[in-house]
Amino acid sequence: MSILVRENVPLAPLISFKVGGPARYFAEPATAAEFSEAMAWAKRKGLETFILGKGTNLVFSDAGYPGLVVYTGKSFHGIQWQGNRVRAQAGALLHTVVTQAVGKGMAGIQHLAGIPGTMGGGTYINAGAFGQELKDTIVSVVSTTRDGKLAERGNRECGFAYRHSNFFGWDEIILETTLDLIPGDANAMRAEMRETLRKRKEKQPLHLPNAGSMFKRPPGQYAGVLIEQAGLKGFRMGGAMISEKHANFTVNAGGATAQDIHDLSSEVIRRVRESSGTVLEREVIFIGEFLPWPR
Ligand SMILES: Cc1cc2nc3c(=O)[nH]c(=O)nc-3n(C[C@H](O)[C@H](O)[C@H](O)COP(=O)(O)OP(=O)(O)OC[C@H]3O[C@@H](n4cnc5c(N)ncnc54)[C@H](O)[C@@H]3O)c2cc1C
Repeated sequence: MSILVRENVPLAPLISFKVGGPARYFAEPATAAEFSEAMAWAKRKGLETFILGKGTNLVFSDAGYPGLVVYTGKSFHGIQWQGNRVRAQAGALLHTVVTQAVGKGMAGIQHLAGIPGTMGGGTYINAGAFGQELKDTIVSVVSTTRDGKLAERGNRECGFAYRHSNFFGWDEIILETTLDLIPGDANAMRAEMRETLRKRKEKQPLHLPNAGSMFKRPPGQYAGVLIEQAGLKGFRMGGAMISEKHANFTVNAGGATAQDIHDLSSEVIRRVRESSGTVLEREVIFIGEFLPWPR
C-alpha cells in the first residue's frame, strides 16, 4: 500500500473542542485513488472507517476511535473556478471558498464566512448561517464508496435538509462539491461578508474551544433562548460550560473531557425539556461510547 497508515494518533489536537482519545489507525490521503486505497485497506482488516474534516462539529469519546480515521483536513484541498461555477475538493476550507467567491463578486455563500470546517464536512452536514445554506448553491457532489466506486449525484439525490444530507446514511467519502454562484457586486459582497464576521465575533465565544451550535434549532424556536430561559448560561459540568456569551455554545472552559461535554449536553436536554417542554436535538456529532447521564 502506498499511503502511510499511522497507529494511535491523538485526535484531540485535530478537534475544535480539543478533547477525546486517539485514533487506532489514521491516514491522510492526498488523491481520490489514495482515499479508495485507505477504504479498501480498512475493509480488508474488517475495520470501521470515519471521515474526519476539520473536526469542528464533532466529539470523539475519551476512549478514541477503534478503526481507521481518514483525515481530509490537511491535503486534498484544490479549488477550481470556471465562470460562476466552483469545484472544491473535500479538504478545501469552506471559508476559503467563500473568500474567493466574494473576491470574484459571486453571491450565494457570503454569509457562510467564518464557518471553520471543510467543504466535505459542510456538504455532509449542509452547513448554513444567517439565512444561507450550502445546499442552495450545490449542483453536484462526487463521492467514493468503500469499494472505490465513484458516484456523482445531483443536488436532489443528496437529500439536503436543515443540517442533514443523505450522506448521514451512506458509507461514502465526499471527494468534491460543485457550486453554482450568482454574479454580483464584489464591493457589496465584501461588505456582507465583513458584517457576517463581525456578528460572529460579537455573539460567539470564539476565544474558547467549542464546536459551534450544540443543538439544532427547534421549529419556530431558538435553542439558545430556551437554554438561557432554563437558567443555564454559565452552567458547568467538569471542564464543559454553557457559554455566558451564547447559550447554544458549549465551551471547553479548561480540562474538559469528551464525557463532560456529553454529560452537559444531556443535562441541558433534561432541564430544557423540564422548563419548556421542548426536546432539543444535538447538532454536534458524538462518536464512540459515552456513559449515560444522569448516572
Ligand atoms: C466557532 C464555530 C462556528 C460554527 N458555525 C457554524 C455555522 O454557522 N453553521 C454551521 O452549519 N456550522 C457551524 N459550525 C460547525 C462546523 O464548522 C460545520 O458544521 C462544518 O461544516 C463542519 O465541517 P468539518 O470539516 O469540521 O467536519 P467534521 O467536524 O470533521 O465532520 C462532521 C461530519 O462530517 C463528516 N464528514 C466530514 N468530511 C467528510 C467527507 N469528505 N466525506 C464524508 N463525510 C465527511 C464527518 O464524518 C462527520 O460526521 C461552527 C463550528 C465552530 C467551531
